[in-house]
Amino acid sequence: MVKKPRFKRIILKISGEVLVGEEEYGISSRVISAISREIKEVTTRGVQVAVVVGGGNLFRGVDASSRGMDRATADYMGMLATVINGLALQDALEKAGVPTRVQSAIEMRQVAEPYIRRRALRHMEKARVVIFAGGTGNPYFSTDTAASLRAMEIGADVLLKATKVDGVYDSDPMKNKEALKFDRLSYIDVLKKNLRVMDATAVSLCMDNHLPIIVFNARKKGNILRAVMGEKVGTIIGDMG
Ligand code: UDP
Repeated sequence: MVKKPRFKRIILKISGEVLVGEEEYGISSRVISAISREIKEVTTRGVQVAVVVGGGNLFRGVDASSRGMDRATADYMGMLATVINGLALQDALEKAGVPTRVQSAIEMRQVAEPYIRRRALRHMEKARVVIFAGGTGNPYFSTDTAASLRAMEIGADVLLKATKVDGVYDSDPMKNKEALKFDRLSYIDVLKKNLRVMDATAVSLCMDNHLPIIVFNARKKGNILRAVMGEKVGTIIGDMG
């Protein structure tokens, strides 16, 4: 008997820091192709997939505003960066044979569809991977918040947050060898302990709407599929039976 996936519809959040891979800046073609192959594997199991891409590998609003740039302008630049990543992911997915559509929260007709919820749902029903770019379309937000928001809107069963570490730790595992990894966490613990895995807006949106989050390492081959199949990977935040 072939095992059934645990989830029918997922939102996969891929941050810029995953896409940069071993490069210093920009997009690693090795990483983006590897992730695309994994997404393909997930779709062949009949799972509907939407992806929210970050932009931190290209531009981060807060960093630029700390150097004196107007925050809203810097954030719009950050949102444009996510469109660049979205197009790169679309290219890699289509090379892997996966039909995709990019929908941007900031209108950009020549390169992407505008974000239209019902249209996104239709694409997913037709087994197309929908890439949500442009974040929420608003400054002062993050692509993690965009992922939570879109997850709610499309009725996703889970938010899979792909990172470059194995899950949520009590301190930065890149800096502290003694850092402890959590297997499970409640939303409120993430907020109270200030665990910085996601910003508070994103976490509280998931909390209010009971959306489970799985934080896992995207660098380990097969992890996306493992998470979708319900195998134990990374850290689970929230209620998930
Ligand atoms: N951003 C924004 N509103 C959003 C999503 C993103 O203003 O709804 C901007 C913000 O400046 C952010 C940048 O886009 O720094 C890139 O997104 P993010 O930092 O979330 O990307 P990641 O850390 O996932 O790579």
